[in-house]
Amino acid sequence: MRTCTDLTRLKGVGPRVAEKLARLRIHCVEDILFHFPFRYEDRTRIVPIGNLRVGDHAVIHGEVQLTEIKFGRRRMLITHLSDGTGMIVLRFFHFNAQQKAALARGVHMQCYGEVRKGQRQLEMIHPEYKYSEQQETLTDVEQALTPIYPTTEGLHQLTMRQLSEQALALLKQGKLKLAELLPEAILEENDLPELVASIEYIHRPPPDAPVNTLQDHEHVMQERFALEELIAHTCSLRLLRQKNREHSAHSISPSTKLEKEFIGNLPFSLTNAQQRVIEEIKSDLEKPAPMQRLVQGDVGSGKTMVAVCAALQAVEAGYQVAIMAPTEILAEQHYRNMQSWFSILGIEMAWLTGKLKTKQRRETLAAIESHEAQVIVGTHALFQDEVTFARLALVVIDEQHRFGVHQRLALREKGKAQDLYPHQLIMTATPIPRTLAMTVYADLDVSIINELPPGRKPVETVVIPDVRRNEIVQRVVKASEQGRQIYWVCSLIEESEALQCQAAEDTANLLAEALPDVRIGLVHGRLKPDQKELVMNKFKQHELDLLVATTVIEVGVDVPNASLMVIENAERFGLAQLHQLRGRVGRGSQDSACVLMYHGSLSQNAKQRLAVMRETNDGFLIAQKDLEIRGPGEVLGTRQTGEMQLMIADFFKHQHLLPTVNRWSDELVRNYPEQTERLIQRWVGENEQFASV
Ligand code: ADP
Ligand code: MG
Repeated sequence: MRTCTDLTRLKGVGPRVAEKLARLRIHCVEDILFHFPFRYEDRTRIVPIGNLRVGDHAVIHGEVQLTEIKFGRRRMLITHLSDGTGMIVLRFFHFNAQQKAALARGVHMQCYGEVRKGQRQLEMIHPEYKYSEQQETLTDVEQALTPIYPTTEGLHQLTMRQLSEQALALLKQGKLKLAELLPEAILEENDLPELVASIEYIHRPPPDAPVNTLQDHEHVMQERFALEELIAHTCSLRLLRQKNREHSAHSISPSTKLEKEFIGNLPFSLTNAQQRVIEEIKSDLEKPAPMQRLVQGDVGSGKTMVAVCAALQAVEAGYQVAIMAPTEILAEQHYRNMQSWFSILGIEMAWLTGKLKTKQRRETLAAIESHEAQVIVGTHALFQDEVTFARLALVVIDEQHRFGVHQRLALREKGKAQDLYPHQLIMTATPIPRTLAMTVYADLDVSIINELPPGRKPVETVVIPDVRRNEIVQRVVKASEQGRQIYWVCSLIEESEALQCQAAEDTANLLAEALPDVRIGLVHGRLKPDQKELVMNKFKQHELDLLVATTVIEVGVDVPNASLMVIENAERFGLAQLHQLRGRVGRGSQDSACVLMYHGSLSQNAKQRLAVMRETNDGFLIAQKDLEIRGPGEVLGTRQTGEMQLMIADFFKHQHLLPTVNRWSDELVRNYPEQTERLIQRWVGENEQFASV
């Protein structure tokens, strides 16, 4: 069905080149046409040397005035070139005697390169050049902007250009056919340019093309394909969702006893949003197909209650539930909280992380296999090979905002028994704008907890340079005197965990010296689990006033009495992470504050980010701002977007296309199955074609 013209039809493609092309996901001539340039060079006109500005990439033409070898720290060849409007220096570090001789005074040459600021005048370092006739003619320059392609080791830019040249020629001669896969209606509705014309334009833009728009991938000819590509990826995920509905799962009747009892024991009532989402989950669980539901709720919106109510449905119906948290600290916290609720209800729990001692581990594994344990909380260790569940029907994945499609699928396979898949409930506090969620989470059903428990006050946030550290330390003292608890978060530029931990240790020591009356604890990623647990529990019990920590406390930690947070080097964090961190305070009824301390002077971007934090506490708004300021890498986590290998589209630049993408993806999956299939083949790499899983 797929039109596929053999690559060997092109000059210069043998088995070795073909192998390299395969690394770029190019398997046939048609693929070359969908392998788009990522930037362009303008070699369509000769720029007078007098008009050059620093940073320009330009073609110049001139006469050599002088060529000499200079001996400085490095030997180099210097050529002075002039065209009557100005003079420029060409600088070569690699050269030979022949080259020096050829660049003699009076020789005419044409160069292409980046203009840089030299010591006394402008210069080009190692420009591309060729000798030319005295009178330059327009045929010396390119007729189109020069495309620069993404390439791979051992495959030259020039080769890529020659291959696309040949492919374009075949297209023009009608020897190669490209099918328009978007339905007529979508082309008309969005006024999209025609397929072949767009392909030609993108590969060889005419001299008058707006280079900057093209560089930014915002030209209408490019947007056409951005739309097509996003639709293809979204359709691929939608098909996955459809396929999922054909699988079987345990159908779980709603709880009549446990849930009521649990809610009755709570000191508060559930918010409307919590109740609504719980109902959505219950209705999923009743179905004989596996639930794949994502619950988005801002930090502190009470996602744990939702997870617990879901778990109770499964337990009452006689099944097991696995609850997975991203860190030991969080797993530990869930385990303790839930145990206090579940033991009253007579529910047996187990707790599994990678760091259990052999004997404990063996006992826990036995309890899971025998169904003695009904609710099992843990880290990724839950899904190692030696874990065998007796009757697993529900998997809850908490705060795994970097949990991509592949991992969701792998986990699902792991939990499968006798052709029955477990239901999956994924909870995230990384809110992303709805239209974006519909694309990147197109394989999931999404519920939103759009309401915080009553009485929450926004966290007052201030931004302060670290030269005013003393004031902040005084603030800590005051807070602790008032019986409040404080987090102090350290960070370092270094990625090294060891250094981060060292920094936290140093800070804790300094604070301890300065504040003899404040009880200080320290947690970081290098502590043993039981040490970590000890410190966290002491903080929870208010046996500690101040907790110095690395970002290990980023997600999930819940100590309502903590009402002041200090974040050092706040300028180094992304918005999503700052919001997560700040979410650790403002959980009780008292006023809370967050001090964002920064070092040195702030970049424009950092200034904007910290200002957003000061102005709002709303996670969805922050996510939207994050998208505007930095792009979605931050919002989604690189792994997640990294998974969708986009060729031309960009979630940030093409946000405005997302509503169209979502609407049409539904339409395509429903009414154009064949085109959908072919779109996915065209745009989505094999290991992302989940529907075949
Ligand atoms: P998150 O959504 O960030 O995981 P948690 O589940 O940790 O939030 O809940 C945050 C805090 O709010 C906890 O202390 C929890 O007991 C409390 N909480 C949850 N739901 C409610 C509610 N409906 N009313 C009052 N407090 C609630
Ligand atoms: Mg939570």
